[in-house]
Amino acid sequence: MHISILGAGVAGLTTAWYLARDGHKVEVIERNHGVALETSFANGAQLSYSYVAPLAGPGVLPKVPPWLLRRDSPLRFYPAMDPHQWRWLLEFVMACNRGTSDRTTRRLLTLSFYSRALMHQFMTEQAIDFGYAKNGKLVVFSDPAGFDGARRLLDYQRSLGCEQDALDRAQCMALEPALGDPASALHRRLVGGIHTPSEEVGDCYRFCVGLEAKLRGMGVQFRFGASIKALYAKHGRVVRVETDRGDIAADACVLTLGAQSPFLVRSLGLRLPIYPLKGYSLTLLASARAPRISITDFKRKVVYAPLENNGVQQLRVAGMADIAGYSHEIDPMRLGQLIKESKLAFPAATNYAQSTASMQPWAGLRPATPKGTPILGATPYANLFLNCGHGALGWTLALGSARIVADLIKGARPAIALAGFGLGA
Ligand SMILES: Cc1cc2nc3c(=O)[nH]c(=O)nc-3n(C[C@H](O)[C@H](O)[C@H](O)COP(=O)(O)OP(=O)(O)OC[C@H]3O[C@@H](n4cnc5c(N)ncnc54)[C@H](O)[C@@H]3O)c2cc1C
Repeated sequence: MHISILGAGVAGLTTAWYLARDGHKVEVIERNHGVALETSFANGAQLSYSYVAPLAGPGVLPKVPPWLLRRDSPLRFYPAMDPHQWRWLLEFVMACNRGTSDRTTRRLLTLSFYSRALMHQFMTEQAIDFGYAKNGKLVVFSDPAGFDGARRLLDYQRSLGCEQDALDRAQCMALEPALGDPASALHRRLVGGIHTPSEEVGDCYRFCVGLEAKLRGMGVQFRFGASIKALYAKHGRVVRVETDRGDIAADACVLTLGAQSPFLVRSLGLRLPIYPLKGYSLTLLASARAPRISITDFKRKVVYAPLENNGVQQLRVAGMADIAGYSHEIDPMRLGQLIKESKLAFPAATNYAQSTASMQPWAGLRPATPKGTPILGATPYANLFLNCGHGALGWTLALGSARIVADLIKGARPAIALAGFGLGA
């Protein structure tokens, strides 16, 4: 079959990978002049297979008003005259309960464990250098109540196959000496953490660039600089993809447009509940005193991931969730705040006197669904498939999601149950 992949982020490229391996003729359409230049570019780098609990949790709603009142809170909301935004928020609020959150966590764990197995298989067969490492992750807590809640979640996650341990303050510092720095504000407020030794890191952009080279070697075509304008359907099938560089016809299409996905299928009568949660990152040149394992500061919602890049040690710092529309612009206030958070938490991790530009600041739009589950699989159009809406976990879930979609196109039964991941779930 001739299959068009719409969008060259990590979701599109991994889908192209499995489809090409299944013997299809694959073409990737992308508006930028290269792969992974939007949300898959400088994300938090965490392959967070065991830490998948959705943002829409039972304890979230009471925290929202104080967050919204503080200029430096991890979550910010900029109301817009956009019914899509308000409907998304309403569905998010409705998902903030224990039952939905537990169900989502269970489903996401199944998908993330599947993705991890596929990543391990990928790494044994393919050579791509993207700073991939299994260095473990420690989620640190600043108040006893938050830590207690995390221990309860740990018990639930253990029952689902996660291998995690609760560590007290001293154990956290023994595991990650960077937390023992008396000059660190994180050191002072640390009460304990949840350690997951099996978690991994890797640079998503470098993975995508390496995958592009492999795909080209397999005959996959890339059409860069082509902005998709509309999809046209007839008799229950998509018959034409209109771009500003001409039309494309294919036997099948896979929609992997990240936060832009809803717009292209609206005219087909499909509603995708995906809204961008804007986040920021820095890529710092790491000193010998930077963290060596991935750290998540639960209170401030900032992640720190050590990354090796051609012998150079980096620290990727990422955080913030702004419900603020579709602009990729870097808000200097939010950027300044991320730098401040990093400096307070790990004052010796880098030379903070360096220019802001040398910290490689970046902003990206997480394609988030209200519940936190991606939208995978078939649509009412026989030859249109979806692989979008991965929110804060698109890198982690990429290989599993892509394999599932490729299996559906092949007519094979996916390795995991699809309940909760389909359109309208
Ligand atoms: C600050 C931050 C930190 C994150 N940290 C992590 C993390 O640690 N671990 C993790 O697993 N995930 C993380 N994520 C989430 C992850 O980066 C995303 O879920 C993932 O990159 C989404 O991939 P995608 O391919 O769906 O979207 P994208 O990467 O955005 O790809 C979509 C592609 O479609 C193209 N496109 C859009 N519209 C059109 C059009 N009309 N015509 C042609 N092309 C078009 C875009 O240019 C883009 O290349 C983070 C995200 C952010 C913002």
